[in-house]
Amino acid sequence: MKKSGILGCPLGHSISPCFQNAAFTNLGIEATYEAWPVVMAELPERIQNLRESDFLGANVTIPYKELVIPLLDEIDDWALKIGSVNTIVNEAGLLIGYNTDTVGFLRAISEYGNYEPSGRDVLLIGAGGAARAAAHALMEAGVKTLWIANRTYDRVKRLADELLEIGEVKPIGLDGPEFRKSAASVSLIVNSTSLGMKHTPEAHINPLEGLNIGSSTLVTDMVYNPLDTPMLTDAENRGCRILSGLPMLVLQGAASFELWTGEGAPVDVMFSAARQALIDQSD
Ligand code: NAP
Repeated sequence: MKKSGILGCPLGHSISPCFQNAAFTNLGIEATYEAWPVVMAELPERIQNLRESDFLGANVTIPYKELVIPLLDEIDDWALKIGSVNTIVNEAGLLIGYNTDTVGFLRAISEYGNYEPSGRDVLLIGAGGAARAAAHALMEAGVKTLWIANRTYDRVKRLADELLEIGEVKPIGLDGPEFRKSAASVSLIVNSTSLGMKHTPEAHINPLEGLNIGSSTLVTDMVYNPLDTPMLTDAENRGCRILSGLPMLVLQGAASFELWTGEGAPVDVMFSAARQALIDQSD
């Protein structure tokens, strides 16, 4: 039996084991996917163990997406640009780092949001790891102007500076006239902060509260628990199209699965298992 899993701390609410195991079972692959909570001091040894022949690889989540990079043998181009690895593949003892959040995000807005970013204006809220993946993906996909709004201005300025050679990027604060103006004018708004996430003190917060948003705007959240965040509920009530964070989560996981197994991921099966896991958690 081959092994894979997710490394992070804490991992209490991860639903990745549910949908990855459903995918292995569906394709008859003899492998398991486990939650591996790891404290910082154990990280180098846990990564070293992945070189053994029974490991397919691992997903990596908060707070280790950057810290694993020096522990790996090769890093693919997307992960290098973003400076973060969410997938490790064990290739005969060599550990290769990838970032599948980029492809997961682009597939989600295209296939589940019916949105093509090329030539469009977009507002991205947040400048953390998930935002970095979305920002690079959107710029490479040919967005015309990318507004990036973040609570901590220095962080968003650094991200914008990295992207300026690809196209037009405007770093802004999380309030003020530029935030209001961009929200009203763009065709896609992406929340990549943790605002609205269940089990946090900010679960009730809608970063777009009180702002004008065009009714043809697609509003999408990277938060997937709950599926109906305060931001998405409000946007839907105003007639906007909405997209939860679940398609991105499943599709980044599907891309990881394909890297580990070389098989096409059974995306529909993974979606059903992910939805069921969220329902089970809310009981
Ligand atoms: P991160 O690197 O810690 O970044 C967190 C971001 O949220 C930063 O921009 C931070 O702003 C902002 N933030 C946090 N608390 C805030 C507050 N009270 N007010 C305003 N801004 C606040 O985390 P991450 O890895 O980017 O993850 C962010 C979210 O995306 C999480 O909910 C995660 O579960 C989700 N995510 C979803 C997927 C998916 O597949 N759907 C994939 C990756 C991540 P500052 O810079 O000012 O601190």
